[in-house]
Amino acid sequence: MRCILCGGKTIEKIVAHAEFGVLIGDFKSSVCEKCGETYFDEKTAGKIQEKSKELGLFGLAKKVKVAEVGNSIAIRIPRQIAEFLSLRKGKDVILSPRTKHDLHIEV
Ligand SMILES: [Zn+2]
Repeated sequence: MRCILCGGKTIEKIVAHAEFGVLIGDFKSSVCEKCGETYFDEKTAGKIQEKSKELGLFGLAKKVKVAEVGNSIAIRIPRQIAEFLSLRKGKDVILSPRTKHDLHIEV
């Protein structure tokens, strides 16, 4: 197949796939020789999704609204993400903007 992003040639490879820094496993994929983009066929994508659900990683990225608390603003961290990060009330975290559109939270 050809890469959808750059038109480069792809080769079959077994690649280690991780989500949110957690290794899901090794899967058959087509990897672009030019840009490195990885493609999974439908069956493999299904296997990855199944494993991701088993590990509690599926749907971990969430959209939340910014709220106002007194003079500050607050962003609620959904329970599933808090549990993944072992984040508890009273724990110190470090907020560092990476760009004007990306906030990193170190726990
Ligand atoms: Zn490519």
